[in-house]
Amino acid sequence: MPRPRLTSEEWEIAQDAISQARKGRIDDAKRRGGETTGARTRNAHSYANSQEHLEHIGRKVRGFKGIRERQAQADEELLAIESPVIPRGAVPDFEPIKGELREDKVCELQTGRIGIISDAHWPFHDLKRDGDGNFYGAYMTAIETLKNSQCDVIVLNGDMLDVYNLSDHEKVEARRSWKWELDVAKAMLQHLRRFFGDKQRIVYREGNHEERYGRYIARKAKELEGTVHLEEFLGLRALNIEWVDKRAKMTAGKLWIDHGHEWFGGGGVTPARNYRMKAIENILVGHVHRTSTDVIRKPLDGSYIGGWSVGCLCDLNTHYAARNGWNHGFAIVDVDSTGDFTVHNKMIIGGEIR
Ligand SMILES: [Zn+2]
Repeated sequence: MPRPRLTSEEWEIAQDAISQARKGRIDDAKRRGGETTGARTRNAHSYANSQEHLEHIGRKVRGFKGIRERQAQADEELLAIESPVIPRGAVPDFEPIKGELREDKVCELQTGRIGIISDAHWPFHDLKRDGDGNFYGAYMTAIETLKNSQCDVIVLNGDMLDVYNLSDHEKVEARRSWKWELDVAKAMLQHLRRFFGDKQRIVYREGNHEERYGRYIARKAKELEGTVHLEEFLGLRALNIEWVDKRAKMTAGKLWIDHGHEWFGGGGVTPARNYRMKAIENILVGHVHRTSTDVIRKPLDGSYIGGWSVGCLCDLNTHYAARNGWNHGFAIVDVDSTGDFTVHNKMIIGGEIR
């Protein structure tokens, strides 16, 4: 076999690399067993011995700095020549969580007035009590305004619950209890029902923080999957609060309402613009904890298309995101019989609605 132009030391290393790799390939071929063993072994031998292959190795060996490094590289490349084949049945069937829209999961809100709040992150919502025992804060301001606005439906648009204790984040000692979180969330939902009255339609959309629960079960208690539902622990059925999960499509006339985490990528400089450009539809989201609006007129047909991101109702100084550009807010959407709509995207600053 003709010898490539290498120094004697390089030649030794190349030979060594080749023989090691060849051995690996042949062992591998043997391990696979079955009727292909013979052919695989022959192929491994013939490729490992070929001039073309030897020259390839020679070039590799010469091309890099450091003789030992070069050897490691050549070894690795040789071994990677045959990509591993995963035999059928080796990977158990599983159903990945898909981002696509499902026809069986649709929530079309009727025309009328829709009040939207999100991102309260119970038990980290912005709610305080003054010396007389009265509640105040952005959370209270938002729900009081929605109540006075006589909405046909209230949408809890995700991340109402933080699920802090089932997340991977490091916990502050005093907050280390999922039961405490769940108790607060149940109390808050019961309060919402009492506050708005029995006749008020309330729809609760699952956000990425509520999804933490399902992820926790899937990871840590796989056997319980499908038997322990968050919405049941929250008592939503008894409270007559509709649960919209699995990133279902939600619309109000010509407006899409998402929590926001359904879309790939972050909020950017102007979240409303970002979502509007991604959706290429009218779209309203929470999730980014910032109020923003972006409406453009399409130059050729003169129609309008808009994006809205709604502020949050959580504590703006939580320890896990101590410095941020969040703001408090909520939205009211009026939808007419043609599906056209008006979004009142409100900020709450210093207790005042802006
Ligand atoms: Zn979110």
